[in-house]
Amino acid sequence: MTVLVINCGSSSLKYAVFDDKEKLLVSGKHERLVMDGEEGKSHVDALQQVVEHCREFKLSCVGHRVVHGGATFTQPQLIDNDVLQAIEAYIPAAPMHNPYSLAAIRELQTHWPSVPHIAVFDTSFHARMPRRATTYAIDQDVARKYGIRRYGFHGISHQYAAGIAAEFLQRPLDELRLITMHLGNGASAAAVEFGCSTETSMGNTPLEGLVMGSRSGDVDAGVLLNLLRSGEYSAESLDQLLNKQSGLAGLSGISNDLREIETAATAGNDRARLAINVFAHRARKYIGAYAAAMGGVDAIAFTGGIGENSASMRARILQRLEFLGVMIDEDRNHDAQIKSDDEYAVISTPRSRVDVVVVKTNEELMIARESTRIAGAQDRGDVIASAAKPPIPIAVSARHCHLTEATFKQLFGNDATPTPVKDLSQPGQYACAEKITLLGPKNRIEGVRLLGPLRSVDQIEISRSDEFRLGVDAPVRNSGQVKDSAPITIEGPAGKLHLSEGLICARRHIHMHPDDAAVYGVNDRDEVSVKVSGGERDLIFGDVLIRVKDSYKLEMHIDTDEGNAAEIGRDSSGTVNAQDVDELDEDVYRVARENAELEK
Ligand code: AMP
Repeated sequence: MTVLVINCGSSSLKYAVFDDKEKLLVSGKHERLVMDGEEGKSHVDALQQVVEHCREFKLSCVGHRVVHGGATFTQPQLIDNDVLQAIEAYIPAAPMHNPYSLAAIRELQTHWPSVPHIAVFDTSFHARMPRRATTYAIDQDVARKYGIRRYGFHGISHQYAAGIAAEFLQRPLDELRLITMHLGNGASAAAVEFGCSTETSMGNTPLEGLVMGSRSGDVDAGVLLNLLRSGEYSAESLDQLLNKQSGLAGLSGISNDLREIETAATAGNDRARLAINVFAHRARKYIGAYAAAMGGVDAIAFTGGIGENSASMRARILQRLEFLGVMIDEDRNHDAQIKSDDEYAVISTPRSRVDVVVVKTNEELMIARESTRIAGAQDRGDVIASAAKPPIPIAVSARHCHLTEATFKQLFGNDATPTPVKDLSQPGQYACAEKITLLGPKNRIEGVRLLGPLRSVDQIEISRSDEFRLGVDAPVRNSGQVKDSAPITIEGPAGKLHLSEGLICARRHIHMHPDDAAVYGVNDRDEVSVKVSGGERDLIFGDVLIRVKDSYKLEMHIDTDEGNAAEIGRDSSGTVNAQDVDELDEDVYRVARENAELEK
């Protein structure tokens, strides 16, 4: 697949062509573009030159960077009329970007009408952040009316940096709690928990968060009210103040370019020194906050013009983080030179509990990868959609626990052994007669069934409703991922025990034998959506993880809240119930098809 990537900004246009081995064939950048009708080169002129330059290639798809896709698009999208309309609808939220992307898409669709055009959104990677991270604490009626929520941006770069940092560190991304620091003219931080963005510093607009080249980042909203009340500021002049006259430029009074500020600071300029200190202090605060939000951090990745190049800024940001387990090797940090995509530098010491790595961001390559993936999935999706697929049985799991032998003995006595009472649908798994009590700060929940066999780690699975009943905050995790999950006190007839971790809200998933995976055209760790229809309240479950193993039997597992929402019943025993839903009509769609299906 040969893919053309278009990255269109308000006054610049970058493009690149990659072959199917991800080799860069051509690339280019047009800067200082002007509006139509003004003197100088416009976006249309630049696009014409791109077309000329790329005419010789037999393209298989075109990938377009689109800054704002809102909460609608959790994945890149094959562009159709609905997607174009959505991009248009987000113009008020991204006036400097979405109009240009839209124009570029329309223009290039006329030149390459028969290849798929894919929109890759800056917001997608953050679209699944938990509600607690996307919600501003303002009147929710007002928030709903005006679409005031946090979206996050720079997602393409954060996703790429997280992936490549894990690759360089030779650690699986889905086992890492990463903080990615994209520090360039625009700057943002993201908490990437097991491969998913769970917090990021930019919010409803790209203005929130870190100090940037000319953007302020976080400012007390009360300041804006006072400036408006002074009568000397309008919405436009506030926009100008916060987006153009602030950040490094506003602080230093010199430039938005850190290189110039560092030179001035060395020469003794106090405002330049303050600019550097405020920038570093804010970035360090976010690292600390995100480590706390994730319950720890395994690695930190720096990228962007400043993150890749300024050793002194990295050192300033990372100082005093020893308490988190961050130990920096000053020489390695100083010598880190990242010139190409396949270079990286680990700047932490071998004894540092947190790996710190510098990587070069490559948004164009990420867009190429994602576009190729979606274009390929689209092809396969057509086949999948037309193939007759068997329904997927759904099992509603009530709250339950998996215990270690040591924990079991502590709760039920040294001589006790689990008493199997009923085989479960997954081979080798069974429900036991033993039940435990969960003791939360607010309430206790009795009768939580033990599932066998005993395991090597304790894991208690509850629903969101249970969380509120107990008064605890359990993270959504895949089974087995209990590290730094929530603590809980558990009790049995022979004793009580406080677990410092182990309480989770299980992520919905589908167990599949490899033969089933082949039928549905999915792979282990893919995410799909599952449609449940046939009852009174049809529902599509998104973010359903596929887990493929020889020993698995085809079955989707959801919890009681999810089962209730879809009005899927469960038997009265209140334990685990494999309910066969033959009469329902479940279909698995590739993620690429998810939103198209939702729109229908
Ligand atoms: P970006 O928007 O990612 O291109 O990053 C631009 C920012 O990176 C500007 O503030 C530059 O001053 C900064 N930058 C690039 N190279 C260096 C360098 N060698 N030392 C310090 N800052 C740099």
